[in-house]
Amino acid sequence: MYDIIIVGAGPAGLTAAIYARRAEKSVLVIEKDTFGGQITHSPRVENYPGFVAISGNELADKLIEQAMEQGAEIELDTVTGLSGEPGAYKLTCGTHEYEARSVIIATGSRHRTLGIANEERYTGEGISYCAVCDGAFYRGKSVAVIGGGNSALQDAVMLSESCESVTVVQNLDFLTGEGRLQKILSERENVKVIYSSVVKRVLTDGVAFAGIVIADANTGAECELRVDGVFVAIGQMPENEPFESAVKLNDYGYVVAGEACVPEAPEGSERAPLGVFVAGDCRTKTVRQVTTATADGATAALAACRFLDSLGE
Ligand SMILES: Cc1cc2nc3c(=O)[nH]c(=O)nc-3n(C[C@H](O)[C@H](O)[C@H](O)COP(=O)(O)OP(=O)(O)OC[C@H]3O[C@@H](n4cnc5c(N)ncnc54)[C@H](O)[C@@H]3O)c2cc1C
Repeated sequence: MYDIIIVGAGPAGLTAAIYARRAEKSVLVIEKDTFGGQITHSPRVENYPGFVAISGNELADKLIEQAMEQGAEIELDTVTGLSGEPGAYKLTCGTHEYEARSVIIATGSRHRTLGIANEERYTGEGISYCAVCDGAFYRGKSVAVIGGGNSALQDAVMLSESCESVTVVQNLDFLTGEGRLQKILSERENVKVIYSSVVKRVLTDGVAFAGIVIADANTGAECELRVDGVFVAIGQMPENEPFESAVKLNDYGYVVAGEACVPEAPEGSERAPLGVFVAGDCRTKTVRQVTTATADGATAALAACRFLDSLGE
């Protein structure tokens, strides 16, 4: 029986582990895939305080090292369910279970990808999923934003302030994002929108990224869009299904919780299970970054410690 089990070894989960261990709680972090989480996909992080520039892998390594140095245990496993009661929770991982008095859900989210050949190869070298993270690398350059919803339009507005040109590529024949954002974009001379078009493949000059090939969704006619960078903003996929009977998920699958990192109760329950907390990109929030994930990790860990202390054992 651990004091706290943390699901997910991204920045939120690892920060929670550091704080919980410093409060002398026994901690297990369960990670199903990549120790360090999403940030490992970023070749260069320039907005995490304390580092002028650091690769995502190096930042992740430092977080893991710090959590382990503090005495956190880390397991490679996939959590598939949460059951039990306050002070005695069970986390199911396939055929076996782990037990903890308190649980922190820090499962993050994944960006939807285009699903084209070489997409992973050019991620960080022309293809980005985060304008806030990578927009500064394209100052004065030409970029495309893929998508037509609020995230895509917000990215396009932001990028149009520093990029030479922004081309929004939308698969439908209309934009689905807020009218206010559409109006701002329509007034920007360096922004244009291409409707009813889908991305077919990466365009290269030999090896280097040179843009994308897009196709008319109705006729199939293809054309080259030569740009320095492409920002994919076609949605994110949280992975909170294992917890849907314990905590409330919104329509997009995020755990509904505020800055206190305390989840709301699911439909049909009066309250969410005491001692279960949520941290990082997997919860409802407006800014999904390493800084906000680590902040959540600290908040959730300290809340879990208070809960454990209230049990008085
Ligand atoms: C390409 C890219 C570049 C980025 N660049 C920046 C940047 O420059 N600056 C910045 O601040 N942010 C950046 N971000 C965003 C940043 O990475 C995220 O905001 C941050 O990682 C969120 O941390 P998290 O711990 O909440 O979630 P995540 O990092 O998503 O970690 C969650 C972890 O939980 C695991 N998990 C999920 N479900 C389960 C389960 N059932 N069982 C066990 N484990 C599970 C996942 O495998 C994952 O490792 C970038 C993101 C990407 C994709």
